[in-house]
Amino acid sequence: MGLESDNNQYQLNDYQPVSKNEDEWTCRVCGFGSPNKSVVENCHPVSQLDRERNTAITNPENGHVGFVFPPQMESSTKDLLEEIRAAIRQTSEATVLSAAADVIVRHLPARSDERQAFDVFTHLIWLQQYQVLPGYPIFRNITESERVSIQEFCNAEGRFNGSVTEAQIRESNLLKEGQIYRAKVLSVTQAFFDQFKHTDNGFNLMSKWDMSNPPRWAEIEFPMSVPFAQHTAHNTIVCEARNWLATHPVIDWACAPHVIGSPQVAEGETKTQSPPNLEKEPSADSIYMFDFAGFTGESCSNIAVVGCVIEDEDNRELLTKLKHIRATTAVALVVVPSRKAIHKLIYQFDADELLATPAAPVEDTKEYYGRQPNIQAVNNELTTRVPELDHIKFVTAKQLIDDIVTPVDVFSDQFRENSSVSE
Ligand SMILES: [Zn+2]
Repeated sequence: MGLESDNNQYQLNDYQPVSKNEDEWTCRVCGFGSPNKSVVENCHPVSQLDRERNTAITNPENGHVGFVFPPQMESSTKDLLEEIRAAIRQTSEATVLSAAADVIVRHLPARSDERQAFDVFTHLIWLQQYQVLPGYPIFRNITESERVSIQEFCNAEGRFNGSVTEAQIRESNLLKEGQIYRAKVLSVTQAFFDQFKHTDNGFNLMSKWDMSNPPRWAEIEFPMSVPFAQHTAHNTIVCEARNWLATHPVIDWACAPHVIGSPQVAEGETKTQSPPNLEKEPSADSIYMFDFAGFTGESCSNIAVVGCVIEDEDNRELLTKLKHIRATTAVALVVVPSRKAIHKLIYQFDADELLATPAAPVEDTKEYYGRQPNIQAVNNELTTRVPELDHIKFVTAKQLIDDIVTPVDVFSDQFRENSSVSE
């Protein structure tokens, strides 16, 4: 229902709860304000929020639901993923791979008999990448879980035709390797999507972009596809962070990804596949894509935390997104690979002269933040020193994966004051 693409998703006449405060309209979900009513109406349209909420998680026990399906993903792929999710729900954690593989085998092209093991293997990697397999990727101590690896499973005696060898994995153009904290993980490549037509990431354009000249967010009609074209390491950290956030007692639900704004369609026009018209009302077309978000208020959702998982981001784009979060009532949670990456990021904001206030009182920004006793101290130092970043909390992937901090530790001042939102 809410997951399906339909024409109603961009109709805004069902969206009334904006309040008029002098000359400004205010979004009732995130508190973003603008004198332009349509900009505010378009900020958190009900249909988009509903779609995110449909696959939201509300506690850490139901954490492995993957991502919100993008509206434009092939319906056959959505059906396949739903079938696999249903099979997994009906099985125990020990037999997750088996349940998923049974469904995959039924959908494999007939010609894959000879290399069935390897084809099943690549499909399980694809599912792992989409965070559909509970417990995978394995990055905790293996002895704790006694889980078999995907490769071991595919090579288990007599289960499938053929086998999966290290050399095959290394040489296959269907797979590429990445790293999460201390574990190596595989992802599928564009060649996988090209070969198996029943798999669609809903965003095959992604790989064709020239990343030295990436499109503006406003030109991307369907940012919800992004996780389906992202690699396993990124998606795993996103889900860890989302599930971790949901453990905060005040957070009612958390979702990934979270999109603020949607392509606008003028009244009387029907939805088209073309990019939004940028000339008419440029500011109304701002679309921001975030990796995850946490909400409070069960009956009427309010956004409390907006999250970004950072690897090698463009600093300018990241800062644009962080500035937008600051214009809302949400806190920004920035997840970085390591503590050093936080120091480097602050240094680069400074070096690129993106901040109005110097981030450190001395010349060497990296060294200054490196001297802070812990990450919480770095957060405190940055947010008191740089007013424009006073809504940011950094955490590292290590902190999340090793359960070093709870969301209550990180959000000790419990989100931001909602006083700026007028009633
Ligand atoms: Zn909003």
